[in-house]
Amino acid sequence: MRRRHFMLTGLAGGTLAAVPALRTGWAAEETFEVTRTEEEWRAMLSDLEYEVMREEGTERAFTSPLNEEKRAGNFHCKGCDQALYPSDTKFESGTGWPSFWAPLDDAVATKPDRSWFMVRTEVHCDRCGSHLGHIFDDGPPPTGKRHCINGVSLTFRPAADAAQTTG
Ligand SMILES: [Zn+2]
Repeated sequence: MRRRHFMLTGLAGGTLAAVPALRTGWAAEETFEVTRTEEEWRAMLSDLEYEVMREEGTERAFTSPLNEEKRAGNFHCKGCDQALYPSDTKFESGTGWPSFWAPLDDAVATKPDRSWFMVRTEVHCDRCGSHLGHIFDDGPPPTGKRHCINGVSLTFRPAADAAQTTG
């Protein structure tokens, strides 16, 4: 019994030491096709991108140039380049963040976010786990959903560019 107790204590110590790396919580529960170390993420992202995408921060409203992006094309994940949102589900929400009423199929995943004394639906890229934003129920038809997305998490690829690279 004494030895077992000792081992459990050791395990607890190890868990505590790992906490800073798991501060967002869900990384331990979900597995992603694309994974990078914290150093790799920091090397490829700006400070703001890292704060938003890897630490679930929020960019300041009305700061993203993608608010004004109205061309046809797809919005891709800045973390892994997976296409996430098509331009034809983008709408003007007036919130100051790029907003969509639906993602592409098999592109995003969600989890409950209980920060700030409320429960919101967090949305992230299902390929690399990068945080995108939140989903609210006050969007337009046909879904009634509003995906409120940080522009820094996205890269826009115009449809014309896609045609060029495939043609
Ligand atoms: Zn991604």
